[in-house]
Amino acid sequence: MKNAPYDVIVVGAGNAALCAAISAQEQGAKVLVLERAPQEKRGGNSAFTGGGFRMVYKGLEDVKKFVPDLTADEIASTDFGGYTREEYLDDLGRMTEYRIDPELAEILVDKSTETAEWLRKKGVRFVPRYGAQAYKHEGRFQFFGGLVVEVVGAGLGLSEAEFKAAEKQGITIRYNARATSLLYGRAGVEGVRLVADRVEEDVRAGAVVLACGGFEANREWRTSYLGPGWDLAKVRGTRYNTGDGIKMALDIGALPCGNWSGAHADPWDLNAPEYGDRDIGDAFGKHSFLFGIMVNANGLRFVDEGADFSIFTYAKYGRKILEQPALMAWQIFDSKVIDRLRSTYRIKQVTKVTANTLEELAGKLEGVDKEQALQTLKEFNAAVRKEVPFNPNIKDGRGTTGLTVPKSNWAQTIDTPPFEAYGVTCGITFTYGGLKITTKAEVVDAEEKPIPGLYAAGELVGGVFYFNYPGGAGLMNGAVFGRVAGASAAQYTARR
Ligand SMILES: Cc1cc2nc3c(=O)[nH]c(=O)nc-3n(C[C@H](O)[C@H](O)[C@H](O)COP(=O)(O)OP(=O)(O)OC[C@H]3O[C@@H](n4cnc5c(N)ncnc54)[C@H](O)[C@@H]3O)c2cc1C
Repeated sequence: MKNAPYDVIVVGAGNAALCAAISAQEQGAKVLVLERAPQEKRGGNSAFTGGGFRMVYKGLEDVKKFVPDLTADEIASTDFGGYTREEYLDDLGRMTEYRIDPELAEILVDKSTETAEWLRKKGVRFVPRYGAQAYKHEGRFQFFGGLVVEVVGAGLGLSEAEFKAAEKQGITIRYNARATSLLYGRAGVEGVRLVADRVEEDVRAGAVVLACGGFEANREWRTSYLGPGWDLAKVRGTRYNTGDGIKMALDIGALPCGNWSGAHADPWDLNAPEYGDRDIGDAFGKHSFLFGIMVNANGLRFVDEGADFSIFTYAKYGRKILEQPALMAWQIFDSKVIDRLRSTYRIKQVTKVTANTLEELAGKLEGVDKEQALQTLKEFNAAVRKEVPFNPNIKDGRGTTGLTVPKSNWAQTIDTPPFEAYGVTCGITFTYGGLKITTKAEVVDAEEKPIPGLYAAGELVGGVFYFNYPGGAGLMNGAVFGRVAGASAAQYTARR
């Protein structure tokens, strides 16, 4: 656009936004990034993540491309498995009950490997996800669940690497700059109105990419769209994702899309702060429930803790906990499995009790019916199919028999002291409802026609995740569509 100071404005500075900004700049665009947060809190939810990226990979050879410094020892003791295009598409279909937009699903999957390679070239470093996606069993690690790598330094490492790449490419980043509306003229979107230091300002550009997150940190919208109780959920990440981007687009006629009553939410430490803590990152998350049981305030189990690998269940079990009395539960383990719990169970800021007998433990579970909890443990122990061998690296079929709420895999009696229990509540990660985009990341209006000059990527796009989610797909979704949105916006503005 003539006389506009920028070709592309990117709203937000998380993973999706920075991938969009870098990609637009690669196409020759002059790019401005607007970050609502102050510099020391920059990077959105992406900076809080465990850094797991889900991608198609063909075994060791592909893993080596992302982790060139794998040691001989790691190679010898690990079966990295593989993850095909079909498996990725199947997982997305299964998790979303086949509601995912099939075209977006194919783009996400087909561009996953090349996008991880692109990130690596931009300075993002990866390591194998030992401990979470592969356990040492009979001397070997075997990867499962399709999520093989995470970023060195987790979310903060990712965010720092992406900011460094953006700055190196000469992209301008403004902090404390909250976009509030879109400048919309005859030709389409022409820029953004923002508020900085309480002063309104208009900035013009040829195109705008919205990548400023969902509405998980907006208590009022949560209650309106997700339902009662969601006002009381803890926010796992940033406080700045309050749905601004979605609202700005809806205000000019964009079409709402996807699972507006759905959200990604996990079992999260009972006493975690209201919003995420960047120093703790995702370590308030308690995802090793598959090795024990969870009881609610009535002392009853309420989910199949071993229904699948937790990478396929954790994102829907937050909601289940929210639905329990007092919105909480306790996860119970015995000493047989303690060394299998993820490192997030060993942080200082943890709600934990220990005991040498089950009776003593049940008495320490604050807010729980002690007698019923003991009864539940007794019935659970009696129901375990002890004849089936335990194997944490496969769905081992070692379940229970005869329980109203079964446990399908990894069931072990809870009978060997010392016992440990961890208090959890619901932590909301991000919301699933948002804007509808095309395969070029163009935002569409009520007639499903692209709104000229408007693009979107990341959490605020609807139509990708419904009900549940395969871990590691959020960052990949942001990166893939961020790249697409940035390139599309730059090409559009060059034509304009
Ligand atoms: C604790 C935790 C752990 C997670 N672990 C993983 C994981 O290991 N793997 C995975 O795939 N996913 C993970 N996720 C999910 C992942 O964070 C999201 O899928 C992804 O980061 C979303 O990226 P995004 O760029 O869309 O949003 P964000 O990273 O949240 O970025 C949104 C940006 O927009 C800014 N913003 C908001 N409103 C405005 C406004 N009005 N104006 C200007 N800027 C604005 C925010 O400040 C922020 O910079 C995790 C999430 C959390 C919270």
